[in-house]
Amino acid sequence: MVSYKAPLNDIRFVLYELLDYETTIAALPGYEEATRDVVDAVLDEAARFCETELLPLNGPGDAEGCTFEDGTVRTPLGFKEAYRHFIKAGWTGLACDTQYGGQGLPNVLQFVLEELIWSTNLSFGIYPGLSHAGSHALALHGSEDQKRLFLPRIVDGTWSATMCLTEPQCGTDLGLVRTRAEPKGGSTYKITGTKIFISAGEHDLTENIVHMVLARLPGAPSGTRGLSLFIVPKFLVKPDGTLGTHNRVSCSSIEQKMGIKASSTCTLNFEGAEGYLVGKPNTGMHCMFTMMNTARLAIGLQGLGLAETAYQSAVAYARERLQGRSLSGSKFPDKAADPIIVHPDVRKNLLTARAYNQGARALALWVGMAMDVAVKHPDPARGIEAEDLVALMTPIIKAFVTDYGFEATNLGLQVFGGYGYIRDSGMEQLVRDARIAQIYEGTNGLQALDLVGRKLPQDSGRLLRRFFHPVSQFIDENTGDAELQPFVLPLAKAFARLQQATLWVAQESLKDGQEAGAAACDYLRMFALVALAYMWARTAKVAVGKLAAEKESFYRAKLATANFYMTRVLPQTSGLFAAITAGARSIMDVHEEWF
Ligand SMILES: Cc1cc2nc3c(=O)[nH]c(=O)nc-3n(C[C@H](O)[C@H](O)[C@H](O)COP(=O)(O)OP(=O)(O)OC[C@H]3O[C@@H](n4cnc5c(N)ncnc54)[C@H](O)[C@@H]3O)c2cc1C
Repeated sequence: MVSYKAPLNDIRFVLYELLDYETTIAALPGYEEATRDVVDAVLDEAARFCETELLPLNGPGDAEGCTFEDGTVRTPLGFKEAYRHFIKAGWTGLACDTQYGGQGLPNVLQFVLEELIWSTNLSFGIYPGLSHAGSHALALHGSEDQKRLFLPRIVDGTWSATMCLTEPQCGTDLGLVRTRAEPKGGSTYKITGTKIFISAGEHDLTENIVHMVLARLPGAPSGTRGLSLFIVPKFLVKPDGTLGTHNRVSCSSIEQKMGIKASSTCTLNFEGAEGYLVGKPNTGMHCMFTMMNTARLAIGLQGLGLAETAYQSAVAYARERLQGRSLSGSKFPDKAADPIIVHPDVRKNLLTARAYNQGARALALWVGMAMDVAVKHPDPARGIEAEDLVALMTPIIKAFVTDYGFEATNLGLQVFGGYGYIRDSGMEQLVRDARIAQIYEGTNGLQALDLVGRKLPQDSGRLLRRFFHPVSQFIDENTGDAELQPFVLPLAKAFARLQQATLWVAQESLKDGQEAGAAACDYLRMFALVALAYMWARTAKVAVGKLAAEKESFYRAKLATANFYMTRVLPQTSGLFAAITAGARSIMDVHEEWF
C-alpha cells in the first residue's frame, strides 16, 4: 500500500507565502469571495475526499480494470459511488462559471484539486478531467444555445465530455483526420468516422457523454486548416434539455493497456451521428486548442501528483526498512541494521523527487494563477502578459513535469527495492500509470517542438520575455544578498546558459529547421530546470526571511532542498547546453539504412 497525505502545508506555503495569493488573486474582481478562509476550507475538504474516497479505490481499480460487454463499459467496483459523491460535493464545477452552475472559484484551486486527484486515483480523475477541459472549450467557443443545453449538465457532472482527435492513421499529425461532417441544415451535421484511444469514450458514471469531435466538412482545405469541431452527444438532447434517443455513435472495444487500467480507452464509431458545429467552419483546431491546452496543463499535474505519492511512500518505507549500516558509523546500534534512509544513494533518490515535486508545484501554481490574472485582471495589458506566460509554460509543464514524474515514480520504486516491483507495494502501479502522461495530449517530443517552433519565435520572442524579464529582475535585485548567494548565483549561471542556448537555437534553426528539431527536447528540459531554479531561489528568499518564525524546521527543510536542487540537479543544464549546441549533424548524418 502506498502512503499519502495531501501536502497541504506545502500547497499553503506556495499559495500564501511564495505567490501571495491574497493580493494576486483574491483581490481580482470576481474573486472577492475566494478568501483565504474559503480556500483553506476547499483544500481541507479536497484532501479529505481524495485521501478517504479515491485512494482506497486506486489499487483495486487497477486490479479490476474496466470491462467491456455489448458496447457498454463498466468501471471498477466503487467508482460509480465515488463519482456520485464527487459531483454531489460540487468538485466538477469548482472553477466553472457560476452562470452555468459552477462555483466560480479561481483556476489555481482547480490545479490544486487536480494534483490531489492524480495523486490518489489517476484513472478516476480522467473521467471528470476531460469534462473540465470540454466545458472550458464550450464556454469560449460554443453558441448560446449550445452553452445553455450542454454546459450546466457538464458542469454539475451528470454528463461528461470527451476529446475525439485520434484516428488509426492520425495521432500527432492531426492534418490526417478523415472523419467527415456532412451538413444537414442549420448547425446540424452528420458525422462519420472512427476515433481511437478515446479516454472516457464510454463508461457508466454519467447519464450522457458529450463527445467533442474533430471532423472535416465537404470541400474543406486539406491538413489542420480544414478541421472543424463538433459536439456529438451519446444521447441526443431535446430542446428542453431532456435526453432523447441514442445517437449513431457506438463503442466497439476498449484497450488493454500498461497503466490507468480503470480509465476506459475506447474505439468510437460515428455512423452518421448527429453533431453540432462549434464556432465557425474550419476553425476546429483553434477551438480544440482551448480544450487541449487546459488538458495539457492538467496532464502536467498528473506527473506531479504521481511523483508526490511515490515520494511520500518512499520516505515512509526508507524510515522503516532496516538494511546495512551508515557509512559514517551505525546510527541505530540497538537495531539489527540502520534504516535505509541513512544511505546517501537512497537520500539522493528521495531528495531528487522532493526537489522536483516542490519546485514543479510552485511553477504550476504560478502558471495557474497567471490563468486567473489573464481572465480577471482589469488592466488588459496585464491580462495579455499573463496569457503569454501561460502559453509559454504550457508545453514545459506538460512535458517536463510528466518526464520527471515518470523518473520520480521510478526512483520511489527503487527505494523499495524488490518490494517495489511487487504489486502489493502499489509502487509499480504508480510507474505504469505515470508512463502515459508522456504520450497522450501530444507526446512530449511534440511539446518540445511547440516550445521551440511556435512559442519562442512568436512576435520576436514576446512570450519568452514574460519569463526572462522576471528572472533577470530577481537576479538583479538579489545578487548582492549574501544569504541568498548559494541560490541566486547558480540560478544566474544557468539562466545565462539558457539565454545563450535560446540565441543559438533561434539562429541555427533559421539556417536549418532540423536544428530546432534536434535541440527541442534538450532545450525544453533545460528551460524547465531553470524555471524550477527560479522557483527554488524565490522559495529560498521567503524561507530565509522566516527562519526565526514558528515552523522553523519547515523553512530549514525548504532551504536544504533548495540547496540540493542548486548543487545536484541544476548542473544538468551544463550537459544539456553542450548537447544542444553540438547541433543536428550527429543525429541527421546517420543514414536510415544504418539503423
Ligand atoms: C491511454 C491513452 C489515452 C488516450 N486518450 C486520448 C483521447 O482522449 N483523445 C484523443 O484524441 N486521443 C487520445 N489518445 C491518443 C494520444 O493522444 C496519441 O497516442 C498521441 O497523441 C500520439 O499519437 P500516436 O500514438 O499516433 O503516435 P505517433 O503520432 O504515430 O507518434 C509516434 C512517435 O513519433 C513521434 N513523432 C510523430 N510526429 C513527429 C514529428 N512531427 N516530429 C517529431 N516526432 C514526431 C512521436 O513523438 C512519437 O514518439 C490516447 C492514447 C492513449 C494510449
